[in-house]
Amino acid sequence: MIVVKTKEEIEIMRESALVVSRTLGMLAKEVKPGVTTLYLDKLAEDYIRSQGAIPGFLGLYDFPNTLCMSPNAQVVHGIPNNKPLEEGDIISIDCGALKNGFYGDHAYTFPVGEIDPATEKLLRITKESLYEGIRELKVGNRVGDVGNAIQRHCEKHGYGVVRELVGHGLGRTMHEDPEMPNYGKRGRGKKFVEGMVIAIEPMINLGTHRINHLSDGWTILTKDGKPSAHFEHDVAIVNGKPELLSTFKYIYDALGIVSDEEEEFRQNQLVL
Ligand code: MG
Ligand code: MG
Repeated sequence: MIVVKTKEEIEIMRESALVVSRTLGMLAKEVKPGVTTLYLDKLAEDYIRSQGAIPGFLGLYDFPNTLCMSPNAQVVHGIPNNKPLEEGDIISIDCGALKNGFYGDHAYTFPVGEIDPATEKLLRITKESLYEGIRELKVGNRVGDVGNAIQRHCEKHGYGVVRELVGHGLGRTMHEDPEMPNYGKRGRGKKFVEGMVIAIEPMINLGTHRINHLSDGWTILTKDGKPSAHFEHDVAIVNGKPELLSTFKYIYDALGIVSDEEEEFRQNQLVL
């Protein structure tokens, strides 16, 4: 069942999303060679609690930590541990927070120091595909339009689009209808309506789309051992169009990256 949100509820959800955005921005400064994912996890938990929120993943389906930390060939749902990050790694950080009864849920894949050009391109194209998908999230369009846009953008570059894991509606629960595959056919699937809030999250592999499950019961990794990237935004449908609730600007501020991608996205929405 799709649960649409009122304008007031969307504003509450914006704050939940921004708690996560600020958490990722705080972590951006800390991601470097030698740091363990368990250390970053603790920082995130403390920060989220300092914002009057609680970690959204901790205990959810019995997940043991605040962050899903998935380095290199891990796609998603990696469990933080004591292994230090190394120069040239990538680390996908997925974070959830619950505040005022609503969840925020978003993710970013960080380079650790210098990374090789092929992996750097994977991160760039995956993030681009996130916006390609979000653009399709408007009243009258359907679930398949978003998935198709993401799939086309990534497969153009020869990447594998993970099939088994999907984006989702978001609200008082972390995973609501509809499921949002990152692949699909235009014009297929459920229709979008005003007030929907959706977490769009392409999970894109440098090589094959096929995955394996680690024996810890959580971690998903690529079948061929090549890297995988994951970017996620929370988006509401307001006045018929997609509106970003989460933002990467805290990450960019922390890393000194100049990016107008979100502003550009908003401007494009105005002329559609
Ligand atoms: Mg997430
Ligand atoms: Mg999600």
